[in-house]
Amino acid sequence: MEYKPTIGLEIHVELKTKSKMFCSCQNDPNEKKANYNICPVCTAQPGTLPVINKEAVRKTVKTGLALNCNIPEISKFDRKNYFYPDLPKGYQISQYDKPFCKQGYLEIDDKKIRITRVHLEEDTGRLVHEKNSSLVDFNRAGIPLMEMVTEPDLRTAKEARKFAEELRLILRYLGVSYADMEKGQMRIEVNISLSKDKNMGTKVEIKNLNSFKIVEQAIDYEIKRQRELLEEKKKIIQETRGWDEKKGITISQRKKEEAHDYRYLPEPDLPTVHLDKKFIQDIQGEIPELPGAKRIRLAYEYNLDKNTIEIFTFNKDLGEYFEKVMSELSNWLKQAHYQKLVNLAVNYITTDFWSLFGKASISELESKITPENFAELITLIYKEEISSKIAKQILKEMFETKADPSHIIEEKGLTQLTDTGEIENIIKQVISKNPKAVEDYRKGKENALQFLAGQVISATRDRAKPETVQQLLKKLL
Ligand SMILES: [Zn+2]
Repeated sequence: MEYKPTIGLEIHVELKTKSKMFCSCQNDPNEKKANYNICPVCTAQPGTLPVINKEAVRKTVKTGLALNCNIPEISKFDRKNYFYPDLPKGYQISQYDKPFCKQGYLEIDDKKIRITRVHLEEDTGRLVHEKNSSLVDFNRAGIPLMEMVTEPDLRTAKEARKFAEELRLILRYLGVSYADMEKGQMRIEVNISLSKDKNMGTKVEIKNLNSFKIVEQAIDYEIKRQRELLEEKKKIIQETRGWDEKKGITISQRKKEEAHDYRYLPEPDLPTVHLDKKFIQDIQGEIPELPGAKRIRLAYEYNLDKNTIEIFTFNKDLGEYFEKVMSELSNWLKQAHYQKLVNLAVNYITTDFWSLFGKASISELESKITPENFAELITLIYKEEISSKIAKQILKEMFETKADPSHIIEEKGLTQLTDTGEIENIIKQVISKNPKAVEDYRKGKENALQFLAGQVISATRDRAKPETVQQLLKKLL
């Protein structure tokens, strides 16, 4: 029998709040000046007392509810003791036996991954190592840090990555964190063991994985490493390992601590927290539609393909814009071919509209190209009053001038050219100017026809329909 991996995750997330967890210092992840957002509380001066940040509690409970957790009425904070230069108090205020959220789950591909707990604690400072010295910056010390722990329900590196990506998406939908992994606002630790039977093997922890790709790579590497050791009848050491990005391997860092090493004790400077039903209900009411539900609805309402659904779920603003356009088109939908309009809107939103993104945020784009005007553009394309090439041109113009499409069409004379007489006149001119291409066509060269058609279309400034041009060209040649 093969050795099978058992994987659990511990994910730390810095919450988006105005102030720090236990003092009124600013929580500014972009602060460049070292030791700027600090005060006697977060630098642990004698005689100071912590005060709980209610907004951080709200955001933790909100996350717990979104992850289907129980929210116990009574929670408390505890001291986790350890010594390290980035921890001014010599202990971290965390939660031990009474966290804010317990026993939840998150569904990934129809599989429930159980969530053991979600608790709240404070972040540490940051050490900067220089050649002959180490410096400490306490701007980050005391920033509200939420920790989520899963049960060991994950089986593969891909599954673990997917779980972490979905979790980040949920955190962003909830607006509780920016969860930017590059900035350390979301940090992932992996617990992994291998076993042939139901008994758990020796657990190894991999710390400080700062991208989803690295999470996947590190797990794959660790599965291979442990399997090889076990097959050689060697022992797995319970330890904490780190990821060496250059070599693409995990390396031993230290022996793993047990909970008793931290000598947890109830935080005497903070009261027990009582969360009443009303408080929890109010937060429940603020939870928006989450990615899982959104995917199902987008598939049902618009019959979108999987790829488009992912684009609109991952890029929440873009998805919302699409739905606003669809609601503008709703009067139209009754009379027209529904799916064709949906597809047209999807196509133009995910390509031409989206390519303007980067020049402006979606909300800026929306202020320039209103969903109403965009919907009008889609109906013009649908009715074949403008060609797709002209549609792109109009979209650009809409972005620059905020004007509505019919206004632009009128001003620039961009309507589809339907007068065949006028097209024939242009064709005659093109034929007389290009005798060689005409001769080639008569000799049987098909691409000569394409060339002539292109000349005609550009002479009409893209206003003639390619099919009409081809037909008339063949007739006149
Ligand atoms: Zn402070």
